[in-house]
Amino acid sequence: MKKKTLQSGLFPVKVCIKCGETKLAVLAYFSYHSRNSDHLNNYCKECINSRNAEYRKNNREKIHIYQKKYNKLNKEKIKEWHKNNPEKVKIFVKRTCEKNREKRRARSRKYKQECQRNNPEGMRDKLIKYLNSYANFSTYAPKLTIEEDPIDDGSGSLLAKCAYCGKYFYPTTSQVKQRVGSLVGSNCGESRLYCSDGCKTACPIFNQIS
Ligand SMILES: [Zn+2]
Ligand SMILES: [Zn+2]
Repeated sequence: MKKKTLQSGLFPVKVCIKCGETKLAVLAYFSYHSRNSDHLNNYCKECINSRNAEYRKNNREKIHIYQKKYNKLNKEKIKEWHKNNPEKVKIFVKRTCEKNREKRRARSRKYKQECQRNNPEGMRDKLIKYLNSYANFSTYAPKLTIEEDPIDDGSGSLLAKCAYCGKYFYPTTSQVKQRVGSLVGSNCGESRLYCSDGCKTACPIFNQIS
């Protein structure tokens, strides 16, 4: 292909043979090309980028296989690069994590919707079971206060203090959720945690409010 170069005033310009636009003949607009006399590519950077993006979109599988092969053959080289570019690696890892998180979330959303569609009864049973199970310590402890004084029972379940007798007991997820809702103000009432119905009815605070 013949390349066209124009001269416009002081600055050399070049016409991209793909999009036909006239751009400054500098590395900001055209990438380096050793075999051309002006050492610039005949395609502008924008055209190259969109062509590459198109190629990547259409050849995901092929690129994946190629990359795997390349990584396997260049283990040492890659290790070396990682060692010399810690900042770049950090950014890359962060970006990949974010991308994967989105993917994971989308997948679990889809899975839930499918379950709901295929087996609404089962979903409800699962939810009820979850709400009646012991609350998870790491999920709920940060949302409770010194009053509930949450502690880990050693297996990840949450133990909390009864608001009346002060004894530690296992509140259900549903109880803890309600208490958290009261603490953040999205539920009305106090929904304090009581170890038993006895403590609940004996508690003067509970009786005052209800
Ligand atoms: Zn172009
Ligand atoms: Zn109690």
